[in-house]
Amino acid sequence: MVNNITKTIDQVAAAHPEAVVYDELGTTHTYGDLKRATAAFAAWLDQTALPQHGPILYYGDHQFEMAAGFIGGAKAGHPYIPVETGTALPRLKSILATAKPQLVVAIDDFPAAEVGYQGQVLTRDELSEIMQKEVDYPLTHELTGSDTFYILFTSGTTGSPKGVEVAHDNIQSFINWLQGPLFDLPEAGRFLGQAPFSFDLSNFYWLVAFTSGGSVKAVPHAVVQNFGQLFTVLPTLDFSVFVGTPSFADLLLLSPDFTAEKMPALTKLIFCGEELTPSTAQRLFDRFPEAQIFNTYGPTEAAVAITGCEITKEMVAKEKRLPIGFDKPGVTTSIWDGDRQLTEPGAHGEIVISGDSVAKGYLNNPEKTAQNFFKVKGVQSYRTGDAGFIDSAGMRHIIGRIDFQIKLHGFRVELDEVRASLELSPLVKQAVAVPKYDKNGKVSHLIAYVIAAKNDYESEKELTAAIRKSLEGEIMAYMMPTQFVFVAAFPKSANGKIAVKQIIAEANR
Ligand code: AMP
Repeated sequence: MVNNITKTIDQVAAAHPEAVVYDELGTTHTYGDLKRATAAFAAWLDQTALPQHGPILYYGDHQFEMAAGFIGGAKAGHPYIPVETGTALPRLKSILATAKPQLVVAIDDFPAAEVGYQGQVLTRDELSEIMQKEVDYPLTHELTGSDTFYILFTSGTTGSPKGVEVAHDNIQSFINWLQGPLFDLPEAGRFLGQAPFSFDLSNFYWLVAFTSGGSVKAVPHAVVQNFGQLFTVLPTLDFSVFVGTPSFADLLLLSPDFTAEKMPALTKLIFCGEELTPSTAQRLFDRFPEAQIFNTYGPTEAAVAITGCEITKEMVAKEKRLPIGFDKPGVTTSIWDGDRQLTEPGAHGEIVISGDSVAKGYLNNPEKTAQNFFKVKGVQSYRTGDAGFIDSAGMRHIIGRIDFQIKLHGFRVELDEVRASLELSPLVKQAVAVPKYDKNGKVSHLIAYVIAAKNDYESEKELTAAIRKSLEGEIMAYMMPTQFVFVAAFPKSANGKIAVKQIIAEANR
């Protein structure tokens, strides 16, 4: 049981100094290296003029120094703001304007001049030199309790990014859940480190690994972007725990080597961040018949994930959509109706999260904080904007985003439900359903964007007709899109999720 993140990491390091904690495609770093690097960096930070608890922005990819920097900073009492290399300049400017970090740790080249940053920049070479020093650093003012541990900027496609302030105890509660009986993770697990640090899904691998004696098999962004390279390194990574989005698993499934024969160590696959469809889960079971698959759900505002369950083969065979599981200890999710009243089991409404995982709010943004965060009987709570329901067994289900709920000729339609229905067709590999608005802002019809499964149809017209036929009885007539657009791939957000809002914007240009 973790009750102080940096102390726990030091204890693990003291017990297993020679064990590998971080593996960058064969370049390994041990727990001893981690302890030395974090102590030396913390000692260096203590000598700077950084204000107490002043956040540090780290700009980079999947380098060891990123993670070591976060922990070194936390030891010296400074929360981290992870920002991915190549972040669009307007987003970077907005993050700097909101968080006002006085130190940027530039593991990759930081465009200080382009974004008008005037504070101190520490380069990777300077950091590496600092991290080589042997320093005795007893923990005296590390981040604990309600201190902000990290600030993560949301990836929303509209409006300026909001910096979610996640406290040490928020994320500690998540770590302890992951290390508990539900997931039953292997000892010294080897975690796939693919999601960027700027996506809170990354906490599933690195923080959980570092506090349990496990290791991270880091995959640099450039490799993730290059399928040839990705598929070449994949079977050599030898990870035992996959954490990622279903979209990323769909990508890996394109590789013939993503199988139990080639990757026998892989026994746990944990999903979060977007809907895990029965089709993806089935294909994973076909490839990894002995592995366990978990679906988890949660927003950045509630420290990564707060519901979860194992997805069984029976569920995959039976259910049209998979559940998101039960609440983690310390959290209660409930469903609001339109009048913000709690509902009975079965009723559909907005998912509200209360408990020890819910973040403090948005950094320097009291207005947005007040809109989304509030207390329920004195307990910190957050309204998610997700539509869902609780079934009679207490299992949680997500239906879709509330703002993806539209009215079409008087019928209330969930775009995600249309998508899930379309994906029941064997001719549809993946789909996105979007509304087409008329000049009065009313939805005139639905458009289906479809990545088709392999087929022999000679024209899109014939394929469309065949898809419609295959869905007879599976989808309500009013929900059937009237227009089909066939595409090879969907645009993705920075976090690798399908960028539905972008597709909607393009469809209505
Ligand atoms: P983020 O804050 O970027 O992690 O995004 C959180 C949002 O992703 C949630 O509010 C949901 O809309 C969506 N999401 C997360 N996990 C799941 C899941 N297991 N199934 C469906 N949607 C999910």
